[in-house]
Amino acid sequence: MTLEKLKTEISACRICGNFLPHGPNPVFRANEKSRILLVGQAPGTRVHNTRIPWNDPSGDRLRGWLGLSREEFYNEENISIIPMGFCYPGKGKSGDLPPRAECAPAWHGKLLKFLPNLRLTLLIGQYSQKYYLGKRRKENLTETVRNFKEYLPDFFPLPHPSPRNTFWLQKHPWFETEVVPALKERCQEIWEEG
Ligand code: SF4
Repeated sequence: MTLEKLKTEISACRICGNFLPHGPNPVFRANEKSRILLVGQAPGTRVHNTRIPWNDPSGDRLRGWLGLSREEFYNEENISIIPMGFCYPGKGKSGDLPPRAECAPAWHGKLLKFLPNLRLTLLIGQYSQKYYLGKRRKENLTETVRNFKEYLPDFFPLPHPSPRNTFWLQKHPWFETEVVPALKERCQEIWEEG
């Protein structure tokens, strides 16, 4: 198996296709040279339609947190992007449905074997934190993010940068004053290490 073959296999995945209102359309990026892995939730409609991950206001805010231009962000040699669910899960009563639970167990482990240069995994939102941190999480996402230093150097937990979370960001100003600068600094160190 090669990474290219695995990516082709994932692109043809139909494991939970019967539950996806818009059908399977896996959106992810993986490159052996990537030094940062970004694990988000699942594509929204705009990402589903464009097949470009984080190509929405959430992505704009995330790039601001990381201090990266679109060009740097979308350079696969910098960042691989594998959400907890690779396909758009559809809408629920209050926004998009959660990522399909079948997806990460089916594909993440296989992909990670081809990403030997990772120095840092950004865990964006509760689903990736639950999957990767398990019992190491705090009682809620706010406390997990507040204690981000406990998970370094491997993981950096973050809230979802969605405009829907603007209230959370306003309520927790320490995120912008303490966590975002630490995130930018860690990313900068990784780029400089080469
Ligand atoms: S969400 Fe994941 S498991 Fe489901 S069809 Fe898409 S790639 Fe396959």
